[in-house]
Amino acid sequence: MNAVEVTITEVGPRDGLQNTKSFMPTAAKKAWISAEAAAGVRSIEVCSFVPAKIIPQFVDAEEVLAYANAIPVLTPVVLVPNFKGCERALAAGARRVTVPVSVSEAHSMSNVRKTTAQAIEDFARMADLVRSQAKSKRAQLVGGCSTAFGCSLQGAVAEEDVVRVAAALQEAGADAISVADTVGYANPEQVKRLFRKVRKVIGEDFNIEAHFHNTRGLGLANALAAYEVGVRYFDSTLGGLGGCPWAPGASGNVVTEDLVFMFESMGVNTGIDISKLIEVRQTAFAAFPDAELYGHISKAGLPKGYHPGRAPP
Ligand code: ZN
Repeated sequence: MNAVEVTITEVGPRDGLQNTKSFMPTAAKKAWISAEAAAGVRSIEVCSFVPAKIIPQFVDAEEVLAYANAIPVLTPVVLVPNFKGCERALAAGARRVTVPVSVSEAHSMSNVRKTTAQAIEDFARMADLVRSQAKSKRAQLVGGCSTAFGCSLQGAVAEEDVVRVAAALQEAGADAISVADTVGYANPEQVKRLFRKVRKVIGEDFNIEAHFHNTRGLGLANALAAYEVGVRYFDSTLGGLGGCPWAPGASGNVVTEDLVFMFESMGVNTGIDISKLIEVRQTAFAAFPDAELYGHISKAGLPKGYHPGRAPP
């Protein structure tokens, strides 16, 4: 088997579910996670360690993480909004923790009631906590720059601010930096420019990840643009789950099936079996009729004579 060239993190069980009206049963979450792992997905963001009174969807975070941790091929990822959440996640055995920090001050205040600078200080405390773990079981810490391409509260977000936040998170102890288009404002030109600027500061060899939403239809174009400037780690959700409550009818994250199809048909190995992945889409949401699913390849089917990762003639 060829080496995986692009790593796709399925973030549906977290980003896709955080705004849904009804609770996805724990058993259905587990079935979804294991089915995607069986389709070749090696990285799944499985839950958020946010208080259940804020987002009841994640009341079962500990149980879901324990389940995902027991799948040998899988690296589960969890999201934590603050220090308390980080403590809980580590106590529950988290191995990879993403901490989003809003570059937009307005978004930061509304989301975690902290300025961006305070959120970075909080991140540094979490990095200290992670470093206090035994080296053999130390979690990986991902510093997320959210609202990096614009914010629905503040409007434009300065690229220098994104670069500054990314550098501060790296300095504080992040193992990787994620740059997120939280509200789906990005365009491909902006994506190339911003990733180049961030890379210049954090270094070419430092892990950098892209998180795009398809709110305005540019999710795949943005992913391709990021790939072209060297990004090899991408977030997406099965069925594009994760519509925005403030933009009814707008699609959510980049669709995992479509993203895998794009890369595989370009000959870029994702390690994911596209046919199996499409089947997961048909089964995972059987117990969750609320899910509003998007995506093209699952509806149109694979092209005749399609072979994943085929070399150009
Ligand atoms: Zn998101």
